[in-house]
Amino acid sequence: MNIHEYQAKELLAKYGVAVPKGIAAMSVEEAVAAAKQLPGPLYVVKAQIHAGGRGKGKFKELGPDAKGGVRLAKTLDEVEAHAKEMLGNTLVTVQTGEAGKQVNRLYITDGVDIGKEFYLALLVDRATSRIAVVASTEGGMDIEEVAHSTPEKIHTITIDPATGLMPHHGRAVAKALDLSGDLAKQAAKILEGLYRTFLATDASQIEINPLAICPTAEGDKLYVLDAKVGFDSNAMFRHKDLADLRDLTEEDPAEVEASEYDLAYIKLDGNIGCMVNGAGLAMATMDIIKLNGAFPANFLDVGGGASKEKVTAAFKIILKDPAVQGILVNIFGGIMKCDIIAEGIVAAAKEVNLSVPLVVRLEGTNVEKGKEILASSGLAIVPANDLGDAAKKIVAEVAKAA
Ligand code: GDP
Ligand code: MG
Repeated sequence: MNIHEYQAKELLAKYGVAVPKGIAAMSVEEAVAAAKQLPGPLYVVKAQIHAGGRGKGKFKELGPDAKGGVRLAKTLDEVEAHAKEMLGNTLVTVQTGEAGKQVNRLYITDGVDIGKEFYLALLVDRATSRIAVVASTEGGMDIEEVAHSTPEKIHTITIDPATGLMPHHGRAVAKALDLSGDLAKQAAKILEGLYRTFLATDASQIEINPLAICPTAEGDKLYVLDAKVGFDSNAMFRHKDLADLRDLTEEDPAEVEASEYDLAYIKLDGNIGCMVNGAGLAMATMDIIKLNGAFPANFLDVGGGASKEKVTAAFKIILKDPAVQGILVNIFGGIMKCDIIAEGIVAAAKEVNLSVPLVVRLEGTNVEKGKEILASSGLAIVPANDLGDAAKKIVAEVAKAA
């Protein structure tokens, strides 16, 4: 689960991380009112969408010369003009895809002067099973590009969970960023705040790009200017307060509906809908569809207890995708018996008036009974014997129907 920049910064501020003052706004009036509460004389008007690259992004409705989704303003009138241009319009960035995302919220922040920009992120390193800190002096730009062209400029420090964050980690990050004296202390403090946030919220990622040195009347200050925070969805049950930060308008409607039925569904770009129980089997099914020259339209794990209701909901969700030209059901009846699953499939196929080819592969307890139910259903269900057979058949059926 991802959250907006303003929510991420409010969260980080609670853990003592230095962020510039800012206020979220849902309308032009709110944007101006927000700016009035900030010290000025410089403001930043920032589009809040769940995608990075906003600064260099382009609004679909505005000409190619219009500014992007992160704009500086020197007066309240400029804040108002930017808010008017941005709200309701569609921002396209390198991370949104061509469709872009509609901007429904803004974040008005105190504009700071920037001396230098850094990159700092915390994530889960699967190789070491530890939280890894990634730091680079090359901030404010595409970090994948930095990793590709100048990998020596990216420093990774892993944190042993047995000791937790230690002062030497802070020193290592300061060194990686080429900071000394008071700025090194500030970097260590920010790292400590990020680490505490990461643990307390079961985060999966905290990315700060840029972290910036900002010259102020009280000397140089390190500020988090942009923050991207993602949480481990599997841990959300113990963070009810964080669930309120979810912005459903940012998520795929089919994925939201699927989550209501406790189905693990992820939309993909292909044309073969998949309904499978078990994540491993689902991955194998997607692989074998590809092996047969076609592409899966989705990942869908209906879970161990695939009830008739769940199967029906899953069919409906798959069929809402206009790209789907055929469905492959691949279910292993372990706890659930194949005959019960077959009944569910038949009932669901009738209920949704299935109009695309359907190939079903069942295996497990009562598989013969299950196959009989499918065969005598009167529906044009194509039975398959194994995974390879099923994939071949659905690809052929879709080709035939086209
Ligand atoms: P992103 O484009 O989605 O990554 O959005 P960011 O929040 O990172 O903003 C893009 C760029 O805008 C940053 O890299 C900064 O260079 C600039 N920027 C953001 N906030 C400020 C600010 O307070 N003052 C100044 N001068 N520039 C800012
Ligand atoms: Mg950024």
